[in-house]
Amino acid sequence: MAEKRKKVILSGMRPTGRMHIGHLAGVLTNWVKLQDEYECYYEIADWHALTDDPTKAREVNSNVLGMVRDWLAVGIDPEKATVFRQSYVPEHTELHLAFSMLVSVPRLLRNPTFKEKLAELRKRKGYTKMQLKVEELEVEKELPQILKFVREEDEEKAERMLSSVINRTKEEVLEKITGEVSLDEAAIPSEVSYGLLGYPVLQAADILLYKGEVVPIGADQLPHLELTREIARDFNRTYAPIFPIPEPLLTETPKILGTDGRKMSKSYNNAIFLSDPPEVIEKKVKSSITDPMKVRRNDPGRPEVCPIFHMHRVFNREEVGEIERACRAGELGCVACKRRLTEVLIERLTPIREKAQSYSDEDVLQVIVEGSKRAKEVAERTMEEVREAIFRP
Ligand code: SF4
Repeated sequence: MAEKRKKVILSGMRPTGRMHIGHLAGVLTNWVKLQDEYECYYEIADWHALTDDPTKAREVNSNVLGMVRDWLAVGIDPEKATVFRQSYVPEHTELHLAFSMLVSVPRLLRNPTFKEKLAELRKRKGYTKMQLKVEELEVEKELPQILKFVREEDEEKAERMLSSVINRTKEEVLEKITGEVSLDEAAIPSEVSYGLLGYPVLQAADILLYKGEVVPIGADQLPHLELTREIARDFNRTYAPIFPIPEPLLTETPKILGTDGRKMSKSYNNAIFLSDPPEVIEKKVKSSITDPMKVRRNDPGRPEVCPIFHMHRVFNREEVGEIERACRAGELGCVACKRRLTEVLIERLTPIREKAQSYSDEDVLQVIVEGSKRAKEVAERTMEEVREAIFRP
């Protein structure tokens, strides 16, 4: 009996560096599961990494091997999934150009990804009024406790609490700015390139080049996929019906906060990497912030604001219920709670780190080169159809 055809999935990551536990929980664990059920293409999105900053090509290049080494170490199997590098398959850029004729500039200006980037740029350029306002409000809420520390002459605690409140607000502020950005508000900053505006068109080309039918995304990314679906429909209507209309595969992405309470990210220097040895994991967990209101062991805590609790929730499911109860009841101290998390993380990450170390650079490079060859064969077939559809006499 003929084997049932597997649906095609495309998903990718920018090569920003070694993977951290946020990537493991949010994307990689899911990728490992999907490779058994679908025909998966996992993309090293190196062209995408240049859309924000074209000068970082060298950095992007040096990040590729480390990132893919971690993919393999967590269980991505190149026999099951095609791991490829976007720039090794030039058909991505050709399809990007063909699609760019089908999308209007106002449509791209409305794209949520673009608005987020614009907000980030504006923020960097001094759009900080709102940040200061939110910080002020948050600090006001925690002020009685901060003042108490000052009165007790415990300046260290007062300062720690103040900086934790400020850090926490930074993510919220970006979200607020993003929500309120109006394109008429100010001229688009000169740092916005044509490439950045066209970023979602390149994303559509990535998916449709392999006739991707399913895209694993979180609910917040649905508007991004919508543009790909519109482009596929437009192409099929204008030239010939060759593309599927990709469906979202909604995936839950557990929230992992960094050790300073902000989103976990290499650029914030608050991440626990899959390649961290036990002593580094221990040090990072030890220095992580917790609930600033829980000062003494017996104070009741608020797990929802504590990054340590968020990590327990993802990596220590058996014990998380009891940890939450004991924290709220003031029966668990942060020192013991962190010690337990350290043990759990070391147990989980050690086999991954050891497996990653077992691959040589040549092994990883071979996976990428062979995967890119496989991807290119599919991409060439699609582009022949595309050229035929557009230019047929
Ligand atoms: S006891 Fe654990 S969950 Fe509660 S605040 Fe301390 S570290 Fe966070």
